[in-house]
Amino acid sequence: MTNDNNAKPLGFAQLGITGTLLDAAAAAGMSAPKPIQEKAIPAFLEGRDILGVAQTGSGKTAAFSLPILSKIIGLGNKRRPRTARALVLVPTRELAVQIEKVVRELAKGAHVSTALVLGGVSRRSQVKRMAPGVDILIATPGRLTDLVREGEIVLSDTTWLVLDEADRMLDMGFINDVRRIAKATHPARQTALFSATMPKEIEKLSASLLREPVRVEIARQGTTAAEIRQSVVMARTKQKRKVLSDMLADDNMRQVIIFARTKHGADRVTRDLGRDGFEAAVIHGNKSQNARQRALDGFRSGSVRILVATDIAARGIDVPGISHVVNFDLPDEAESYVHRIGRTGRNGAEGEAITLCDPAEASKLRQVERIIRMRLNVSQDVTREPDPVHRDPAPARQEPANDRPRPFKQRGDAGGERTGSKPPRRKRNRRGGPKNGAVRFGSRAA
Ligand code: AMP
Repeated sequence: MTNDNNAKPLGFAQLGITGTLLDAAAAAGMSAPKPIQEKAIPAFLEGRDILGVAQTGSGKTAAFSLPILSKIIGLGNKRRPRTARALVLVPTRELAVQIEKVVRELAKGAHVSTALVLGGVSRRSQVKRMAPGVDILIATPGRLTDLVREGEIVLSDTTWLVLDEADRMLDMGFINDVRRIAKATHPARQTALFSATMPKEIEKLSASLLREPVRVEIARQGTTAAEIRQSVVMARTKQKRKVLSDMLADDNMRQVIIFARTKHGADRVTRDLGRDGFEAAVIHGNKSQNARQRALDGFRSGSVRILVATDIAARGIDVPGISHVVNFDLPDEAESYVHRIGRTGRNGAEGEAITLCDPAEASKLRQVERIIRMRLNVSQDVTREPDPVHRDPAPARQEPANDRPRPFKQRGDAGGERTGSKPPRRKRNRRGGPKNGAVRFGSRAA
């Protein structure tokens, strides 16, 4: 399996990757290393900590998976019960599932065990899977915290730790769990931290968790992939439904992900799209894990053309063919804009990102522009046009009167959704309700 050197991608071999991993990388379509892989793989193989400023789509999964696999292969399966040799900590379930898939693909032909520990699905099978110990555990912080606290998972043998999408874990309120989890791993561990953006808190986190890391910066902070065309349509909130439907009538919008700020908003957009004749799947935090996975699978396979998502649910989704990202409304956090539009234009493909902006959202738009360090082009402004009146197509007859502008706008009628004065930001609660006090790992011997 390892003697056919000619057939192997030379690039990865030069970085220090050997054996079955080269075959597996080639089979996974990774012919030449991406820049992040070129920089991170040799450093990680040397035992250095890594601080990676890179977005999903940059190839960072293989950048940490290949060297970890390379270190794990050959260690044999002498593991202590309930332990994991390597831990990859990620903010969302979808990302965890995706990473495990890549790891398994790259581990093909090698004897490496993986486990997924994430919320929203049965913990019993996860506990069972962890019982003999595994090589690589991919987990979200909430469930992992629970299982560590209960003694079902032991991290003291974990010598490789990857924190992926650290900024998103911060946004989601996981930062204390992350710190606690890191502290529970082996003190002489090797750590890689990846983050699309580097807010101060993440700089602080990496300073406390990484030792003299090699900094690998792929896209400059907050910059967006050059392949993505970006524009803004100025539209009042009430007009957005029609603007969106008109847009989607264009067949060039082959595969579209629409971002809504809230779960409720995502449901409403999906419902309105259905009424306007566009079938769409939706993912957000209130959907069951199965429903989310089904929606995502349909979208990935191409049977679903339109996916409506909230920021958190869509985080890290790697679906190659997304032609358009539509921001139905602007995100609360300007950095989320970068993550959102990064869903398109992947792997050098062309992509387009269109943001629908109510005048009340203008300040959020300015913040986005500051982050991406460019001014966004307003391709259309419909704010002076009359409000559309939406009807569900079913029972109504064609009545041209519907196109007539409404004579008055009532006072206080600010549209179906208030996007202007936003409510005070709440800390997101990761598991639906406060537990009694801070989550602490028990001190019981495991
Ligand atoms: P990631 O940033 O890890 O989510 O990777 C984004 C996409 O790039 C995935 O679809 C990978 O399969 C793909 N990819 C990663 N590394 C390479 C490579 N060296 N050559 C070609 N495609 C790659």
